[in-house]
Amino acid sequence: MTAGIIDGTAVSKQLLAETAARAAAFTEKAGRAPCLATVLVGHDPASETYVKMKRNRSRKNGITSKAVELPDTTTTEELVKVITDLSEDPEVDGILLQHPVPSQIDERAAFEAIAPGKDVDGVTMYSFSAMAFDLPGFHSCTPAGIMRLLKAYDVELSGKHAVVVGRSPILGKPVGMLLLNENATVTYCHSRTTDLADQVAQADVIVAAVGRPELIKGEWIKPGAVVIDAGYNPGNVGDVERQAAAEKASLITPVPGGVGPMTIAMLLEQTVRAAEASLA
Ligand code: NAP
Repeated sequence: MTAGIIDGTAVSKQLLAETAARAAAFTEKAGRAPCLATVLVGHDPASETYVKMKRNRSRKNGITSKAVELPDTTTTEELVKVITDLSEDPEVDGILLQHPVPSQIDERAAFEAIAPGKDVDGVTMYSFSAMAFDLPGFHSCTPAGIMRLLKAYDVELSGKHAVVVGRSPILGKPVGMLLLNENATVTYCHSRTTDLADQVAQADVIVAAVGRPELIKGEWIKPGAVVIDAGYNPGNVGDVERQAAAEKASLITPVPGGVGPMTIAMLLEQTVRAAEASLA
């Protein structure tokens, strides 16, 4: 068997086109475009690039962005004040605080200053608990993107065994909870898991969210399983041994062009959703 490709580039393009249409409709109704505030603290080159990409993509899809750039020396109190002001600004619909922030800052305190209705990156405890309770709210963008991909390819989740490798608060843990909300039976694996190969071999759906090149071997994959590789390692290498896994899986995400493009698309979709909710 050679796996079909889950084309994240195509799915994200479709989602962005729908989002741009909704942004245009909002702009006509509200007399202003949806607005995403991006907050960048310091000069980490990777963070600067990510924020620039998010702002460019916003602009291309009819969403304005308000860039807040703060120095490396910013204190927790100063950052919380900036985010609280954005939370209270009626012209701002979504707030993105670029991670990581300099080490003197209490990042959790800063995230918690984001109003739940503007938490379009799904980073607050409110959003996390709403997701756990399966209530409406914003989700962490990469897990939300993974769920979109599974839906776009009609992957049946109810009663299926999903194995999530990785348990970070922005990726592994929430994607497992979203799979559980869809009635999958979910197993989490992490760095202390002693029988990773055996666990993966049981999976109908595998989500790899580790950040270790080709940790998951093709020979472990159950024939017909669906493989979602969220890992992104230097040299465009995922967490799954791609060629060998494609021989066993029914569907697989490429790296790049699988999970990656979905994250910004979900961020913009959630920004427009926040803007629409402000008019309701
Ligand atoms: P992270 O915070 O470093 O978490 C990595 C997770 O992998 C941890 O839960 C860790 O376990 C687990 N792990 C480490 N070594 C392991 C091993 N040998 N066996 C099993 N589990 C192991 O990373 P992250 O932020 O979740 O990101 C994971 C990957 O996804 C990275 O490659 C990142 O670049 C990628 N990513 C992609 C996107 C995107 O496509 N847009 C977005 C976010 C992240 P412990 O908890 O026990 O330490």
